[in-house]
Amino acid sequence: MNANKTISLIVPVFNEAKNIPSFYVALKEILETSGYRYEILFINDGSEDSSAEELVKISGDERVKILDFSRNFGKEIALTAGLNHCSGEAAIMIDADFQHPLELIPDFLAKWERGAEVVVGVRQTNKNCGLIKRYGSFLFYKIINRISEQPLAPNSTDFRLLDRVVIDEFNKFTERNRLTRALIAWLGFRREYIYFEAKERRDGLAAYNVRKLISLAMNSFISLSLFPLKMAGYLGIVIVLLVGPFGLYVLIGKYLAGWYYASSFSGPAQLALLLTFLVGIVLCSLGLVALYIAHIHKEVLGRPLYVLRGKRNKIYE
Ligand code: UDP
Ligand code: MG
Repeated sequence: MNANKTISLIVPVFNEAKNIPSFYVALKEILETSGYRYEILFINDGSEDSSAEELVKISGDERVKILDFSRNFGKEIALTAGLNHCSGEAAIMIDADFQHPLELIPDFLAKWERGAEVVVGVRQTNKNCGLIKRYGSFLFYKIINRISEQPLAPNSTDFRLLDRVVIDEFNKFTERNRLTRALIAWLGFRREYIYFEAKERRDGLAAYNVRKLISLAMNSFISLSLFPLKMAGYLGIVIVLLVGPFGLYVLIGKYLAGWYYASSFSGPAQLALLLTFLVGIVLCSLGLVALYIAHIHKEVLGRPLYVLRGKRNKIYE
C-alpha cells in the first residue's frame, strides 16, 4: 500500500556543505526502509559555501530534486518554494543540520496514516541554544499567543508533515511576509504533535542570529495580529478616560464650586492636564485610523475566506 504513495522531503539548505553528504545518506536510509516512494527536494537558499557543488554531486539520484535560489531569500521562502514544487501525497520539512531527528520520520508517517493532516514536531528542550535565543523564543510565543487570532503551539518547529490538501491550500497564500508555521496554524486541519529532543547542530553555524530572529518575530507580530496597530488607540482611550473626568473635576471645582482641593491647582497644572487630554484625543484618532489600516491590511493579505478539507469528504453525496 505504501509503495503507491509518494512522500516529499523538503530540505532548506544554507551553507550546509559539510552536512549535505551525510544528511543525504542518512535520510535515504530511513526512507528506503519506510517502504514509501519518495522524492527529496533540496532548496539551496543562496549558500555561500560549496553546498551547491555538494548538491550537484548527489543530483544523479533521480529522486533528488534541487531548487537553486539566485540569492539568500531566507528559510521561510525556501520552505514555501519546496511546498510549491513538491509532488508527493504528503511533504515533510526538515532541517539539513541534523537538529531534527531523522529517525522520527516513520512516526510522522504513522500519524499521517492514522488521519492526521498536519503533524507538528515540537521541541522539548532547548538546552543547546543560548540564553537569549531560549528566552527570546519563550517571549515570542507568549506574545504571539496573546495577540494573534490563531494560537501557535510553543516550541513548535518547522519539522512537520503536511498532507496534500494542506499543501494545496498553503500554496494559495499570496502574502510576502510569512512565517510558515503560523500560516499552517491559520489553516487549521487535523493536527497531531510529536515531541523531540533537539540535538546539537552537526556542522557549520546557525544562520539565524539574534538580529535575524528579532526581525522575523517583528514581521510575524505585524502580519499575524492587528494589536500593535490598535495599541495607540487603546492608550488614547485610557488617557481620555483618566484625564477627562479629572480635568472636569478641577475646572468645576476651581471656577464654579470652589472646592478646596481643586482650587489649589495652578495655571500650569491645568495647562498640563489640558495638554494630556488633547494628546489622548490625538491618540484616539490615531487608533481610529489604525482601524481603517487594519481593514486595508486584511484585504491586502487576501487570505481565503474559508478553507475546505477538500472534496475527499463528500458531505453532500
Ligand atoms: N536555512 C535556509 N536559509 C537561511 C537560513 C537557514 O534555508 O537563510 C536553513 C538551514 O540550512 C537549515 C535550516 O534552514 O537547514 C535551519 O537553519 P538554522 O540551523 O540556521 O536555524 P535554527 O536551527 O537555529 O533554527
Ligand atoms: Mg539548526
